[in-house]
This record gives sequence, structure tokens and C-alpha cells, in this order.
Amino acid sequence: MSRAFNFSAGPAVMPEAVLQQAAAEMLDWHGSGMSVMEMSHRGKEFISIYEQAEADLRELLAVPAHFRILFMQGGGLAENAIVPLNLSQGGAMDFVLTGSWSQKSHKEAGKYGVARVAASSQTDGFTTLPTPATWQIGADSRYVHICGNETIHGVEFHELPDLKALGCDVPLVVDFSSHVASRPVDWSRVGLAFGGAQKNLGPAGLTLVIVREDLIGHALPHCPSAFDYKLVADNQSMYNTPPTYSIYIAGLVFQWLKKNGGIAAMEQRNIAKAQLLYDFLDSSSLYVNKVSKDCRSRMNVPFYLRDESRNEAFLAGAKAANLLQLKGHKSVGGMRASIYNAMPLEGVQALVAYMREFEKTQA
Ligand SMILES: *Cc1c(COP(=O)(O)O)cnc(C)c1O
Repeated sequence: MSRAFNFSAGPAVMPEAVLQQAAAEMLDWHGSGMSVMEMSHRGKEFISIYEQAEADLRELLAVPAHFRILFMQGGGLAENAIVPLNLSQGGAMDFVLTGSWSQKSHKEAGKYGVARVAASSQTDGFTTLPTPATWQIGADSRYVHICGNETIHGVEFHELPDLKALGCDVPLVVDFSSHVASRPVDWSRVGLAFGGAQKNLGPAGLTLVIVREDLIGHALPHCPSAFDYKLVADNQSMYNTPPTYSIYIAGLVFQWLKKNGGIAAMEQRNIAKAQLLYDFLDSSSLYVNKVSKDCRSRMNVPFYLRDESRNEAFLAGAKAANLLQLKGHKSVGGMRASIYNAMPLEGVQALVAYMREFEKTQA
């Protein structure tokens, strides 16, 4: 067996230790005589898995007591509807458009209320972030939505906007699907954060929502019950059957994060990995990353070959070198290296070594 370095944008690389532990526990979890996927979600075994996962996540991300952690389903895209169903009260919402994912959120929210654009970097090809001081936020705004890390365009907020300092006391909603647990979160600036698990937390199927308590309990009457934050919160995420196996694996990832120094240590590793790759891209005459330096993503690094006729050769050589899933998203083309928490530094080193060799053969 040989495991490759996997640069997929999601579902994505998992910590090997987690996969090994899951394999070892597959048939009989802790002497229970059952696999986790065979357990009742209401039995004491699964409840202990669930409670440990929630407690570990709360500790890792330093989630304050007045926030609830919800384990839901439907992915980031379902939250594009579930958030307005719960928070808009049919009123107006303001969106900051910084790439494909915030565009999608904005479009979907329009089905449930008035979805406005507070700012957009589209004219820059989504290579910059609009300065918060320029955002147009209505006095009647129910919330402001941003995508913390644009997985396709490779643009990341390195600091969350301080809406209060901008004079508007409305909740900030953050789609943190693709950089959750890669860096600390300043919860004093956040009303709600959501994300699918399959980028940085575990397998697809689990969606994480972390929401300030006062924002719960305002769902529109036609909000599906299983998506009403109040029902989900009141039932400890077990209003209906939660994605039990995905929660278990995410729980193992949380323990792996704790063993490896927690989020602060992860952030330092992520900074080092991203810097290695961006420094190489900037020094190269073959490859280019177009994102403004102050908002380059540490998680998703899109890049282009200046000679695009070499794309297929680049990908074939990468695959032969055990460097997988580097093809860029179809909407933007080029390449993309996703270097989430579970991607070791050695993976980025191997990628840079391959890219350097490939560049030499192009001379
Ligand atoms: C992947 C992703 C989504 C969509 O997640 P699904 O689980 O496919 O619904 C939403 N937002 C961001 C930022 C993403 O990276």
C-alpha cells in the first residue's frame, strides 16, 4: 500500500492516524461489540462519542458558553438556505461577494428575504477583498454574510471584520467551510459560523453550525423542522438522526488536533506550508498566483502555468510523482493545491520539488 499526497479541495486529505484508528475500531468500538455506524444515536456509547466530540471542539476553537454547537446535515450549500430561514425573519441581508461561494450564498438567500450586495471584488476577478470600511450595510440589515475562505478563488479573510467598529451592530455570518480549525476564531465578531466537514474536519455528511444563543428561535414558519436551529439545539443535534459516523470521525480529528498542539500550532504549520508554496510561485517564471498578497488563502492555493498548453503534462507528471488532485476548479481552470490541516509539510515540499523539476524541463 502506498498513500499519495492528496491536494483535493474536498472531500480532502485526512490525518493518517485517524484513518488507522477508525480501521482498528471498525468492527468493535471499545468492546461494545458494534461498529460506530451500527449504534443507536440515543444509546450511551454514541452519546459519549458525541459529547466528547462537542467538548473537544469547544475547547479547540475556544467557543464561548453563549454559543451553541450544532451538528447538522446538508453541507454548506444547505446552510445557504437554512441561515436565512433562521435569521432573516423575511427582512434584508447584506452579502460581501468575494468569490464563487459567497455568490452562491447571496443567490440562495434571495429566496427567503431581500439579499443585497454590500461589496464585491468581482471586477478584480476575485483576487482582492473589499475593505470593510467601504461595505454598504443597510440600517435594517438582519445580518452580514462573508465567506471566510473562498475555496475556488483562493482568497481568505486574515482578520474578521469588526462590524461594531464600523458602526453597525448586526450579526456577522461566516461560511468557514474550508478554513475551520486552521486558525483561531475571534468569536466577539461572529454571530454564526457554518461549514461542511469535508474540507478540514472529517468526512462529508456532517455540517457544523456554531451560533450565538440569541440568534436561535427566530425561524420563519415554513422553515423545515429538521433545519430549525431551536429544535436542533433543544434536542442536542438529535431532533432527527445525526450523521453518526461522520461525527465519530470528526471527533477523532479533534483528538488528533489536540495531540498535535491545538489550533495555534496548526496555524503555525499552515503559515509555514503556505509560505513555502507562495514563495516558490512568486520566484518562478512558469507558475503564477494572481491573488493579492494580503488575502492569499493558506488552505487553497490556485495557480496557473503561464503556458497553459502544458497543463495536461503537468498533471500527468504530478500523478506519476504521487501528487494527486491538483487540477483547478472547472470554473477558473489552472491548478489548485489544497493544503488543509492534514497535509503534512513534506507534502508541500514534495509538490514544490516536483514543480521546480517540471519548470526546468520547460526551458
Ligand atoms: C465546499 C464549500 C461549500 C459547499 O459545501 P457542500 O458540503 O458541498 O454543500 C460551501 N462553502 C465553501 C466555502 C466551501 O468550500
